[in-house]
Amino acid sequence: MIDSNAPSPVYPFVAIVGQHGMKRALILSTIDAKIGGVMIMGHRGTGKSTSVRALASLMPPLDVVADCPFHCAPEAPAGLCEQCAIGAERTVAAIEVPVVDLPLGATEDRVTGTIDIEYALVHGGRRFEPGLLARANRGFLYIDEVNLLEDHLVDLLLDVAASGVNVVEREGISVRHPSRFSLVGSGNPEEGELRPQLLDRFGLHAFIETEHDILQRVEIIRRRMAFDDNPIGFVREWEPETIALRERIAAARVALGHVALPDELLETIAAVSAELGIDGHRGELVMARAARAHAALEGRRVVETADVRVVAPLALRHRLRKDPLEASDPGRRIDRVLDRLVAV
Ligand SMILES: [Zn+2]
Repeated sequence: MIDSNAPSPVYPFVAIVGQHGMKRALILSTIDAKIGGVMIMGHRGTGKSTSVRALASLMPPLDVVADCPFHCAPEAPAGLCEQCAIGAERTVAAIEVPVVDLPLGATEDRVTGTIDIEYALVHGGRRFEPGLLARANRGFLYIDEVNLLEDHLVDLLLDVAASGVNVVEREGISVRHPSRFSLVGSGNPEEGELRPQLLDRFGLHAFIETEHDILQRVEIIRRRMAFDDNPIGFVREWEPETIALRERIAAARVALGHVALPDELLETIAAVSAELGIDGHRGELVMARAARAHAALEGRRVVETADVRVVAPLALRHRLRKDPLEASDPGRRIDRVLDRLVAV
């Protein structure tokens, strides 16, 4: 019997060919949410959306208060919605980590949720229809072609991302609820630049290129056709690898707090950022967190130079001052500085 309510199969993350930077950035953001989201820049048809949609399958289910539209955490002492904060009895349910799409044409109401003014006038109470920011709480908010998002929505998202709270006000009635999410954006380099303010909100920035290697291209076609022909069978075929990666991520999340970051590597991180003339300290902080998450993923208890090397381009590329004479990927500039610093 065909269950028409069953979600359609999602192309497995582990079956994506190449695109190591993008995959690494997404995996690290699932290990440490404080890394602060990922921006993926690349041409159309390079599998950006596919990878983001598959994120939920890499994470353990989320314990939530059953029926809470904001997915409050049952054991959380703070950061609960008004309803959960007063409710003594909390039934626990497990859900898949939400990965919520924010479509470009979405209205502000759909994003923030709406207050039912008519209900308030007639009954004198508050009734709130939750929006995308409610659904994304404790998960991921994904915006494809984020560089085309309207400015007022960008400002709204920046406010909520910074505070972790969504506040909706209408006709003197106000509703607030928790909204902590990792922002994942993707963009096409031909469609204009992102405002530096928004770019800085993304912890990591992955730059993906169309694969030029013929054998890799062949493999992309082969797997895509196999998936389209028999999605369920294809997902099942990749299931062991999906489970293995999910277990590695789960172990890394547990180990994260016990991974040491030696002082000399912190100095390297600060020196790279200083040498590249990066303003502010967000880049360094993200680099340190991402290096620690990477060491945890590799099953190590101490961060090594190799971890810093791997994450540096992801953490700093979008924070570099533009060099108009630079034709290649600015990530190479970061590699050169690291080569010099680490060699000493
Ligand atoms: Zn709640």
